[in-house]
Amino acid sequence: MTDVWGRGRSYPAPFLQTLARHGLQLLRAETSILQVNVGLLCNQACRHCHLEAGPDRTEVMDRATANEIVAYAGRAGFRVVDITGGAVELNPHIVPFIGELARVVPRIMLRSNLTALADGSREHLMQVCQEHRVAIVASFPAVHQAQTEAQRGKGVFKKSIEVLQRLNAMGYGQPDSGLELDLVSNPVGAFLPGSQKEVEARFRQLLARKWGIVFNKLFSFANVPLGRYRQWLERSGNLESYLAKLVNSFNPCAVDGLMCRTLVSVSWQGYLYDCDFNLARGIYLGGKRVHVSELQQPPPAGSPIAVSDHCYTCTAGSGFT
Ligand code: SF4
Repeated sequence: MTDVWGRGRSYPAPFLQTLARHGLQLLRAETSILQVNVGLLCNQACRHCHLEAGPDRTEVMDRATANEIVAYAGRAGFRVVDITGGAVELNPHIVPFIGELARVVPRIMLRSNLTALADGSREHLMQVCQEHRVAIVASFPAVHQAQTEAQRGKGVFKKSIEVLQRLNAMGYGQPDSGLELDLVSNPVGAFLPGSQKEVEARFRQLLARKWGIVFNKLFSFANVPLGRYRQWLERSGNLESYLAKLVNSFNPCAVDGLMCRTLVSVSWQGYLYDCDFNLARGIYLGGKRVHVSELQQPPPAGSPIAVSDHCYTCTAGSGFT
């Protein structure tokens, strides 16, 4: 049997063993964030996508599942719902979903690839986000057109800039507007990201100077060696060296802040996972297929988290929190 690295089970040391070697366990803290993957349909087919989302994917959350998730978010008292995909904008139920969630949770985040907001047909969605103070977390890997488009496709950079400017004009990212606009940057090649603080400072300066764009925070994440990114690593001959970088960069101090300690992911079909990467690999929460309709509460504090070798991505360097 092979692991996610495509090697025998002994290489690299399984993640649990590495944790144990440092005297660590990975257990849940209080789970306050419900991450909802509304489907794999996307207008892009990015090279780094661990879920292999794209225009041909047919997995899309239906209205009945969306309603069950709203009910769970309310009865379980989640404080944040983090909506992701695919391109969430393409889900036909996204507007009512946001409206109903806004009645039961204090904070909603919507992850956008920006270009799905670009064609002028999503004005209503943008206004609904503005009305409900939905935080926009936008993929924006690089401040250079060629690098961005190598990863995300031709024409993506210009459209992304235009959408960021439109969001700024609506108040997003502006000081004291209460409309949060965060960026997510990830390396375009087979390397780990630089310091988040330095990347954020560079993006802030260049975006303001060249395009007059402002934003609140930037998150700099490593790419997970799953899905399309893993296939690219294999084709380009970079797989082994990238995996070695992840393992060699294991940072025990990152474990306490891992996102899976406070977040639970739910798929477009309504099944629960410890995170979106486990969802991509089909590793259910607690090893059991449980539907949101069966649950009253979030997973309890102290419960174990299902881990595998892709977890090394989250503990590399400053971590993936
Ligand atoms: S891959 Fe998921 S389960 Fe593993 S450490 Fe990262 S967030 Fe936690």
